[in-house]
Amino acid sequence: MTENRSLVLVINCGSSSLKFALFPAGDQTPLMSGLAECLGETDARITAKIDGDKKTESLNGEGHAAALDVLLRVLAEHGWLAGVKAVGHRMVHGGEAFKASVVVNEKILSEIEAHNHLAPLHNPANLLGIRTAIAKMPTIPQVVVFDTAFHQTMPASAYLYALPMEYYREQGVRRYGFHGTSHRFVAEEAVSLLKLKPADHGIVIAHLGNGGSATAVLNGKSVDTTMGLTPLEGLVMGTRSGDVDPGAVVHLARAYGWDVNQIDTVLNKKSGLLGISELSNDMRTIESAAAEGHDGAQKALDVFVHRLARHIGGLATSLPRLDAVVFTGGIGENSSLVRKMTIERLKVFGIVLDDAANEATIRGKAGVISKGAGPVAAVIPTNEEWMIARDAGELAGLGGSKGAARA
Ligand code: ADP
Repeated sequence: MTENRSLVLVINCGSSSLKFALFPAGDQTPLMSGLAECLGETDARITAKIDGDKKTESLNGEGHAAALDVLLRVLAEHGWLAGVKAVGHRMVHGGEAFKASVVVNEKILSEIEAHNHLAPLHNPANLLGIRTAIAKMPTIPQVVVFDTAFHQTMPASAYLYALPMEYYREQGVRRYGFHGTSHRFVAEEAVSLLKLKPADHGIVIAHLGNGGSATAVLNGKSVDTTMGLTPLEGLVMGTRSGDVDPGAVVHLARAYGWDVNQIDTVLNKKSGLLGISELSNDMRTIESAAAEGHDGAQKALDVFVHRLARHIGGLATSLPRLDAVVFTGGIGENSSLVRKMTIERLKVFGIVLDDAANEATIRGKAGVISKGAGPVAAVIPTNEEWMIARDAGELAGLGGSKGAARA
């Protein structure tokens, strides 16, 4: 069967993985999604999910180019390849140069490359995905969507660190924020779900996945967020510490003679829920262990919630009024416990939990989980891939994208 609609392929390329999804232009439901993983290693493999049916095949130790070859073959087998009219790529860091998504050309690619120092692990991998896709699909417009772009509306008071200004001028050291594609999607959905006035509303969005960040959104624009120069700042995450006194890091580096790589590993890979619980980085495991009385898991949950509530409270001060707190991401969409504990900490704002609605709003459901006249608490499942597809479709001039975002 041949697909008559225009299609948009979304690629999120990491150093050893490549996630993909295929959307009809203007439709939030993907025709196909999947993941190539362990690229370049002996067990390199690719899994594609179509109509709930998953198929995995080996890539025989090969890398990104081979993964893309298999992906294009699968697209052709399903009669979709000719319909692909745009490719959207996720890019982690766009610095101050990129305030919105763009169609790629050589100049754009070198500008993005000039930001590699700001995200040395992620950006080169994202670029590899773009270059590979250009090589395989040279005539199809390729669009880049930046995690940082949505936060470019933050005022200097929110994005500057109180460091000597020369580091901002010479190294671009400032707060950029991440998860922008998710926050932008959820902010738009919140306006329709909660019937907010587009030009007069203030909300805080908590995106809680393996990484986590919260953002204050004023009339659709990010005005403050918890992540900084890198995704390490702010909330407690699966393996990332979030905020920590830099003096503590200096102290530990002196005590143990750590070099910068060791510091980086401890803060990014060994901290957060994993570091405190000494058990797991996964919230499901933390919750069930805490319920069974595991002391570390209970502490991890408590610190996670304390920090989250504190940041939500802090972010509210960037808004003239708090209309809603919205939860999203794997934890935000599924953990009624984290939401309940967090909302109980937000009494000062007059938010009152609706227990039954909170328990019922899981596994992809959207809805209000509070009651009463105060600010609303709500859950809105995120859809970053769709946002990337929507931007790519719009910038490639495909019809039917815009209004369908809220279908
Ligand atoms: P990523 O940031 O990698 O996209 P996700 O958004 O999928 O991650 O979120 C992963 C997190 O969501 C994990 O900590 C996982 O335990 C948590 N999570 C998923 N389902 C549940 C659930 N039912 N209860 C509690 N936490 C959950």
